[in-house]
Amino acid sequence: MPLNLDIQYVKGVGPKRAKLLKKLGINTVEDLLFYFPKDYENRSDILKIEDLKVGEKQTFRGYIAGSPREIKTSKVIITKVPVKDGTGAVELVWYNQPYIKNNFKIGEEYIINGKLQFKYGQLIVENPVLEKSEDFKLNTGRIVPIYGLTEGLTQNAIRKIMFNALHDYVQEVEEFFDEEFLSEKGLMDIKNALININFPQNEAYLEQAKYRFKYQELFLLQMALFLMKRSVKEKKGIKFEQADLKPFLMGLPFKLTLAQIKVLKEIIADMNSHKVMNRLVQGDVGSGKTVVAACSMYIAVKNGYQVAMMAPTEILAKQHYYTLKELFRNTDIKIGLLSGSISPSNKKEVLEKIKNGDYDIVVGTHALIEDNVIFNNLGLCITDEQHRFGVRQRALLTQKGENPDVLVMTATPIPRTFALILYGDLDISIIDQLPPGRKKVKTYVISSSVREKAYEFAMKEVKKGRQVYVVCPLIEESDKINAMSAEIVYREIYKDAFKEAKVGLLHGKMADSDKEKVMEEFVNGKIDILVSTTVIEVGVNVPNATVMIVENAERFGLAQLHQLRGRVGRSEFQSYCILISYSNSDIAKKRLGVLAQTSDGFKIAEKDLEIRGPGEFLGLRQHGLPEFKIANIFEDIDVLKRVQKDVEELLEKDPKLENYPKLRSILLNQFYQKLEGIILN
Ligand code: ADP
Ligand code: MG
Repeated sequence: MPLNLDIQYVKGVGPKRAKLLKKLGINTVEDLLFYFPKDYENRSDILKIEDLKVGEKQTFRGYIAGSPREIKTSKVIITKVPVKDGTGAVELVWYNQPYIKNNFKIGEEYIINGKLQFKYGQLIVENPVLEKSEDFKLNTGRIVPIYGLTEGLTQNAIRKIMFNALHDYVQEVEEFFDEEFLSEKGLMDIKNALININFPQNEAYLEQAKYRFKYQELFLLQMALFLMKRSVKEKKGIKFEQADLKPFLMGLPFKLTLAQIKVLKEIIADMNSHKVMNRLVQGDVGSGKTVVAACSMYIAVKNGYQVAMMAPTEILAKQHYYTLKELFRNTDIKIGLLSGSISPSNKKEVLEKIKNGDYDIVVGTHALIEDNVIFNNLGLCITDEQHRFGVRQRALLTQKGENPDVLVMTATPIPRTFALILYGDLDISIIDQLPPGRKKVKTYVISSSVREKAYEFAMKEVKKGRQVYVVCPLIEESDKINAMSAEIVYREIYKDAFKEAKVGLLHGKMADSDKEKVMEEFVNGKIDILVSTTVIEVGVNVPNATVMIVENAERFGLAQLHQLRGRVGRSEFQSYCILISYSNSDIAKKRLGVLAQTSDGFKIAEKDLEIRGPGEFLGLRQHGLPEFKIANIFEDIDVLKRVQKDVEELLEKDPKLENYPKLRSILLNQFYQKLEGIILN
């Protein structure tokens, strides 16, 4: 296959340049053709010399008006070549490149690009880029591609190589969308797109070429994910028998909400089928995901299987452990806790009990996916707050059983468009309702100049017997970043404001055992005010806490603040969230205002996206998606939406892609492999 040809053999490359190109990850002709420019410079406007502006980089046409002149000083050789166009004259200037003078013949016409300067009493262009007027232009007179380079390789060189490669090999690149599809979706065909993404004919063609490749990347990934979801579903898994949940449900101090029941039914339907469950449960903070998960655990255990529940932090794992113990206290279900911080002897015992099947449910951190953890009969894997785990970790956990069912829980509201690509291999259930009687958390945005008011208010609540969180963006004081640190707040400010309260400090750099001790004291009410960083963001449950104060709230994303706010409002007491802003900018105010107005996590996530821009949206960037060359799921959300519609339509029309053999084969051969590293199922 010519496209697999080693890059060395491409015209103009050779062994030396091949080494450089390989540094850029370009090993074959195909790699080269798909090595897209990182930027473009529009040099297509060709000006007259009289219209050139001093100080700007511009392109113009001119002929060589005289012989090159050489000026030798002790330090440097200057070569000057006069150029005219009938409207004016400039000198092209090179330093220490004496051989360049041999390139020029009087009267020859060039397209020249460079910055016009006034120097030596003349208009000059230093080190211009120029190409003969009659030649095909790669560096001037067009929209010029700018490639990522490595030392020893110049733009001119890679452009030339790319041009040759396109000329010799682009015909070999196969289109995998059929013609009808291309015209229906308004997509440029792949050959033209390759030519135009490298050497665009004009802006419009460049846009079309980019669109084609963005569409292609997103389309293939989305398609692969959907197909994967389907293939997982076809995989034979455990068929759990219907278990009688009544005794368990009757023992709860509340009735499930309709939304919880709806989601539970979806889970039960999965569990009762032969197919493997792969389900994401999304529900806003406090919507009651844990109980729903507990129901599924109950079913699995009653069927004689073990359950693993993995949480992203020690604190959260421990909390789940206690919550489950409480929920199952009237049953004979045995629950174990496996975390990184337990003593070696204790750990040995826990591992033993997991292996023997003495534990029905094991709650833990990443420690659960270590090699030494062996289950007796793992039938259900639950991961909480999935966005903290890579997809790979989820897969590692499931490998500890034989096609166990998988339940993923997240409180991160993800708009459907992203959910389809981030969790495209999962079915999605949404708990879209909070338990009744919850009081809305009253949310206020205040300026830092009146922050004492917030402290006074918090103190009042403490005196009523309530507890308070204070969250700061930093752990320690920093010279570089002007923001509140937990330590400063803890040591100085709160000494005064909270001298009558017991204040604790919690942050991610503390030893696990210290963290736990502080957290325990807070849970037990020994600490009134907990000053912390965002380590408490995920899932912590202390119903007696009614005030959340966030220092430098403008530094957090809305979705993150929403999560923080979810730590209060967990009881019948009215709760409060006070966001202290140290910024006067309108955008910051507008952003924080959103939280004061709504408590709907999905709305907040969408606003966050709208205002803050996509790049910042949650921590989802580290999610473990394959790298795109050109698409960006956040910036190209419109393309993504179209792609999803198109993929869904196509799969509906032709579930096995029987009429799309080329598409099928590219998915299976090329793309599936790339994905396999990520989704191991
Ligand atoms: P999250 O979805 O944030 O994980 P939890 O499962 O921690 O929410 O539930 C939050 C609180 O709401 C817990 O104290 C839980 O006992 C309680 N809860 C859950 N479901 C209900 C319900 N249907 N009615 C009343 N309270 C509920
Ligand atoms: Mg939870």
